Amino acid sequence: MWGFESPLSHHQMDGRHQRYDRQMRVPVIGEAGQRKLAAARATLVGMGALGSVTADLLARAGVGQLRLIDRDIVEWSNLQRQMLYSEADAAAHRPKVEAAAERLQAINSEIQIEALARDLTAANHRELLADSTVLVDGTDNFATRYLLNDYAVEQATPFIYAGVVSTYGMVGSILPPEGPCLRCTYPEPPAAADTPTCRTAGVLGPAVSVIAGLAAGRVLQLLVDDDAPQSGFQYLDLWQGENTSLRASRDPDCPCCGARDFAWAEGRRGVRAAEPLCGGGAVQVPATEQAPDLAATARRLAGSVEALQESASFLRFRSGDLEVYLFADGRALVRGTEDPGRARALLAETIGA
Ligand SMILES: [Zn+2]
Repeated sequence: MWGFESPLSHHQMDGRHQRYDRQMRVPVIGEAGQRKLAAARATLVGMGALGSVTADLLARAGVGQLRLIDRDIVEWSNLQRQMLYSEADAAAHRPKVEAAAERLQAINSEIQIEALARDLTAANHRELLADSTVLVDGTDNFATRYLLNDYAVEQATPFIYAGVVSTYGMVGSILPPEGPCLRCTYPEPPAAADTPTCRTAGVLGPAVSVIAGLAAGRVLQLLVDDDAPQSGFQYLDLWQGENTSLRASRDPDCPCCGARDFAWAEGRRGVRAAEPLCGGGAVQVPATEQAPDLAATARRLAGSVEALQESASFLRFRSGDLEVYLFADGRALVRGTEDPGRARALLAETIGA
């Protein structure tokens, strides 16, 4: 080192201090807004397409703490729209939160990132969502959205809803306690059979970017502007050029924000069994009552399975044409099948779960 050069002058010389300059020049942000962003914690649930793009925008904008929650691993079919991931991530089938955290930290080393390879459930949501300034929806299923809505209303935490499929999508702001909640407008989730998913209907990358941009914009606005958060929903179809704002109002008879019946948060609704994941080619088997000892399991499996690999947060191995990821909370992903029965059978045979 030069010795006589202060860190500050070096910092100023390489332009680092100008990171947020163009954003702070926008009057609605300014210096005060930038400080509010730095002090905030955004918790993103789901790091697929919407989660990737939203997290990228929030990290670059300088939201000081990002908590990423996702249960999935990177697949080749994700690369067309999930902007944080590379071919190397897909080839290694890395857990999404791990690949995302590494990429986001490379983009902005000044923010704090927590990466949680967990499936958000009624049992763990209080622990995983605690101390969030805002919750951001990057999920692919309504059970998790209704769970987030329950928590948002119960804890009076803002929740930005987002969903996209095919060429269209929607964003919404749930701003409790004053604003209407998700169930004021949509009292019940749609039946699974009636719901197009990215699996069945496909999804365009640009549609994801537009909807994620709207969601990230709503996050920034509610973090910096105490007076003018935008409630209600916005629907947008990229192909048809449709753009519709839907006003939402509080329903005094709403089961959630009216009667304060938190059925999803209390685990009476939305309990999930072993199920194929939206990314395809994998089945998720929910967490066990007791968390497994990964190191002991690895020792026991050594020699009887192929490609055994152990990390702090998960254990991975192959058995025939199937690949198993066992996470620290006992949750397992079985790749190479969409048959829950086959996934369960392999787990019983190998780890005895
Ligand atoms: Zn409500």
